[in-house]
Amino acid sequence: MARKQYRVEIRYDWCKSCGICFNVCPTKTIVGGELGEPVVPDHSTCTGCLVCENLCPDFAINIVEVKPEGTEKQEKAGVENA
Ligand code: SF4
Ligand code: SF4
Repeated sequence: MARKQYRVEIRYDWCKSCGICFNVCPTKTIVGGELGEPVVPDHSTCTGCLVCENLCPDFAINIVEVKPEGTEKQEKAGVENA
């Protein structure tokens, strides 16, 4: 069975660029940007461990499981498809 896939959603309007998330992420899925903000260049390396989500002091991270296309609809958790 294929490994589960996740998407890292960051609410930048809540984030204060403290750096906790990209310092604790064991897979370096979240890295630090030029201004100290969290950046996710490749969501596919996220293991869904939730360490970042649990440690973000501002609740700015939401890890969403992405279902493979064609099986089930994607779970929506604050996803906006305008
Ligand atoms: S831990 Fe939260 S507030 Fe701190 S940089 Fe990451 S997303 Fe932003
Ligand atoms: S859930 Fe775990 S692997 Fe994914 S971005 Fe957060 S800390 Fe990194």
